[in-house]
Amino acid sequence: MEELTGWTVEDTEDVVCCLCRVPGTLVHDVAPFGVVRCPQCELVFISPRLRPEALQRIYDDAGYFEGGVYGSAVSTDAAPSVEAGLSPAMLLQRTWTAGRLALIDRERGGAAAGGRLLEVGAGYGLFLAAARAAGWTTSGVELSRTGAKHAQDTLGLDVFCGQLEEAPLTPGFDVVCAWDTVEHVPDPLSFWRTVRSQVADDGVVLFSTPYVSSLPARLLGTRWWTLKPTEHIWHFTPRTHALLLARAGLALTRVVRNPLAPANAGRLDSLVGVARPIPDA
Ligand SMILES: [Zn+2]
Repeated sequence: MEELTGWTVEDTEDVVCCLCRVPGTLVHDVAPFGVVRCPQCELVFISPRLRPEALQRIYDDAGYFEGGVYGSAVSTDAAPSVEAGLSPAMLLQRTWTAGRLALIDRERGGAAAGGRLLEVGAGYGLFLAAARAAGWTTSGVELSRTGAKHAQDTLGLDVFCGQLEEAPLTPGFDVVCAWDTVEHVPDPLSFWRTVRSQVADDGVVLFSTPYVSSLPARLLGTRWWTLKPTEHIWHFTPRTHALLLARAGLALTRVVRNPLAPANAGRLDSLVGVARPIPDA
């Protein structure tokens, strides 16, 4: 795993399960990191993992979003390039964006787009710009300074650069989206609790993540291309998502695993989840 070179034990910290507060049991040794599983709830996570300062260095790298699912998609031009010039990654990105906006409409009972939409982990702002074009009033949060700056300066979006917990937001969002984000955050329970505090009681939360019970993850072990122990520090299954979300006051109401569904197009090892606030008892 060439991506692991350069990191030493001094860059790492030990963590416990965010749900059960106990250390995990080693599943794969990928020194200086470890893939571990909680003996109580079976949540899979990375420990030791990179310290927050080391992680921030990765996200601030201007090349972070390039070469991944975003391909060379991110243009510095305000106007998108011609269709013929789009990379396969960019076309996939467009399929997800359209599929996810359609899924939001479906989850809202076919209500027209409109209202307040928050995206956590907004990247370069491509989804948020499409949501704005569809009629949403958008806000975003993005940890990467490069991504946030592009979203703010090039696309003119309202994006806060930092962790969700620190963002100065006005609660009551109709929709909160977190695409490929929760596997990156320091504490997913704290993350979902903050999301719960931001979403309206009749609002909806949509997210995507890789999942460790997927066929590629189970077959490939440490060769699973999405394992990435530096960045993907929590690995969920539909069951552990449901446990975690419930602890944060959210009910998991839909899981899309089909790689033919536009919202999850071409993704053999990722799912799209939908969650709703649990009414106060
Ligand atoms: Zn646990």
